[in-house]
Amino acid sequence: MAINIDNAYDVAVSQFDEAADRLGLSQAMRAILRKPKRELIVNFPVRMDNGDVEMFTGYRVQHNINRGPAKGGIRFSPEVSLDEVRALAMWMTWKCAVVGIPFGGAKGGVLCDPHKLSRSELERLARRYATEISILIGPNSDIPAPDMNTNPQIMAWMMDTFSMHQGYSVPAVITGKPLAIGGSEGRLEATARGIQFVTREAMIDIGMNPEESSVVIQGFGNVGAISARLLYELGCKIVALSDISGGVYNPNGIDVHQAMHYSKEHGALRGLPNTEAVTNAELLTLPCDVLVPAAIENQITGKNVSQIKARLIIEAANGPTTPEADHILNDRGVTIVPDILANAGGVTVSYFEWVQDLQRFFWAEHEINDRLESIMTRAYRAVRNKAQQQETNLRMGAYLLAVARVAEATEIRGVYP
Ligand code: NAD
Repeated sequence: MAINIDNAYDVAVSQFDEAADRLGLSQAMRAILRKPKRELIVNFPVRMDNGDVEMFTGYRVQHNINRGPAKGGIRFSPEVSLDEVRALAMWMTWKCAVVGIPFGGAKGGVLCDPHKLSRSELERLARRYATEISILIGPNSDIPAPDMNTNPQIMAWMMDTFSMHQGYSVPAVITGKPLAIGGSEGRLEATARGIQFVTREAMIDIGMNPEESSVVIQGFGNVGAISARLLYELGCKIVALSDISGGVYNPNGIDVHQAMHYSKEHGALRGLPNTEAVTNAELLTLPCDVLVPAAIENQITGKNVSQIKARLIIEAANGPTTPEADHILNDRGVTIVPDILANAGGVTVSYFEWVQDLQRFFWAEHEINDRLESIMTRAYRAVRNKAQQQETNLRMGAYLLAVARVAEATEIRGVYP
């Protein structure tokens, strides 16, 4: 049956089905793992600055919690839908299993355009959403984190709201918090640091020298901007960058520090000196060795795949490649480090943050980064070895490892009652 690529959940289920076929999972296990365990829809009012009351809709989905408490970010976006949140929750289940951290998968979202909200409206929305989903979240049950358009300040408001209802501080209910209230050293850079580690490993495998490689990055937020800096530090030449307003290109290389400064000052990359403007669509097809999609889903599709020139694709965003494009790229011999492995650095350091909060014992930044490096490189190598043994690609290697781990936990726990 044709997959509707506009529905991220259909894409996520089709990826799971492929892995389930290869693993020979029983019909019962397939049925369990195909469906999210819990789905909460909340409709809630927020008082706007002008005194009006507006209704908002939010979601929290837990896909599978057999390996540990549910874990996953919260997204504020006008594009959020229940199916998107379901897909992202399922990917979180596999992601936690790939890197071997003891969490299940969840995701949340609020349908809104955060750029149109004032800071105080954003705070009231975040606090009310946290209250609405407090029937699910908690340090032992479900631990949110930042995702698109949410940040440490929003995590702080949500943690404070949950704590107000308890009557004492519960830092471990949310990760990605500011350091002052139980955040972790290295969390802000964690996803990008993971990207740097897996890029380095993949380059070794395919014989690519960072210092002779050009990189294109789509998205200049938490993940994209910091990945640009860390890949630049690895020695790569960053030739194009983009944000929602469009892309900037210089085949001779972009000074990433200057781009970060410029984007902060002007609110966008558009107009960055010494660069040529390109659209986000053109950006993906520019000549380069490495392409890092770090924005949204469904960017590399059947429509543009024939024009993609990169030899290595590092999926920093969740779900940037459609299954059709994925198969074509694999046939062409392009190496794709899949999202559930590539961007797992964020949830890994979220795990460290949660452990530190529960123990009230905090680690130094070098300890965080060393532990992250060992988890990410071990996971990358395990996925690569699995893919080689099974004569498949890295995505399927990651799925085979992850789905088998979740299926094993589900099997051992048994069907209640
Ligand atoms: P962010 O909000 O900090 O940044 C998103 C960036 O993408 C911004 O530069 C924005 O302008 C750009 N963008 C948005 N829509 C776009 C579009 N239609 N075309 C091109 N660019 C667009 O978000 P983030 O936290 O950096 O997340 C980016 C991706 O990484 C998402 O897929 C997210 O799920 C994934 N991810 C994030 C984390 C994390 O720790 N933040 C962890 C794992 C995965």
